[in-house]
Amino acid sequence: MPACPSSPVDATRNALTAGFGEVQTGTIARRTGAPIEKDPWEWSAGFYPGSNPGEIRTGTAATFDHARADFEQAWRVFLSNRTEADFQEWRNARDWTDRKYAMWKAGERLPSQKPNSLMRCPCGQVFDSHKLEHTLIHVPHITAGRAFAA
Ligand SMILES: [Zn+2]
Repeated sequence: MPACPSSPVDATRNALTAGFGEVQTGTIARRTGAPIEKDPWEWSAGFYPGSNPGEIRTGTAATFDHARADFEQAWRVFLSNRTEADFQEWRNARDWTDRKYAMWKAGERLPSQKPNSLMRCPCGQVFDSHKLEHTLIHVPHITAGRAFAA
């Protein structure tokens, strides 16, 4: 089968991940656990984020070539509705995911995962509950707030 230069598909005979530049555009793969009389191939075309719900198309096919043809048709429709901003949205999400995993790998935590000792007192001030002198100031407020609530 000659390779089509405009095709986003880098084909192998078992499964492939299609790419359009650096953007992963979809997959064609042998279905796992499908009954023998059903289509043994399934495909998915499109990417998210960078698209709207329902724009990613999926399907099944009897042969790899059919799956690939259906995939390429669906991909052309998907691509015709994309703008550069959609690709950028996908890239941003990928970059963020890469950074997140790199941080996890490095044993760090995201800022939002760091233990936070700051508390908001009923008096409206935010204080550090790990600092005794700060806590002592606000304990009466908190106690009073609880008594008031009860
Ligand atoms: Zn207070």
